[in-house]
Amino acid sequence: MNKSGETTWKSFSDIGEGWFPLVDTFEKLVDWDERFNNMPPVQITSVKEKLGQLRIYYNGGDVKTDAYASFVRSYSERVCEECGEPTSLRVEGHLIRTVCDECL
Ligand SMILES: [Zn+2]
Repeated sequence: MNKSGETTWKSFSDIGEGWFPLVDTFEKLVDWDERFNNMPPVQITSVKEKLGQLRIYYNGGDVKTDAYASFVRSYSERVCEECGEPTSLRVEGHLIRTVCDECL
């Protein structure tokens, strides 16, 4: 993440906007640790949906960065990827996504 706070991951991600706040949360946690907790700089390299979960890939960081990415991955199973409403991971045949009934 650059120091201006400008978000760049949206330019290379096609996740639904319901998950944008989760990535924002990840960035805020990382930003705080970079500033106040000596976390090595983190550069997000990829943000994608895989098997119904939000996956954030990055360079740099430390064990806490891994914990934050793991947290948002787990949390994404409870948030509709399209609208952000509470829902749960859906496995129906070949469909594996986290979307609510309205957005399916
Ligand atoms: Zn929805």
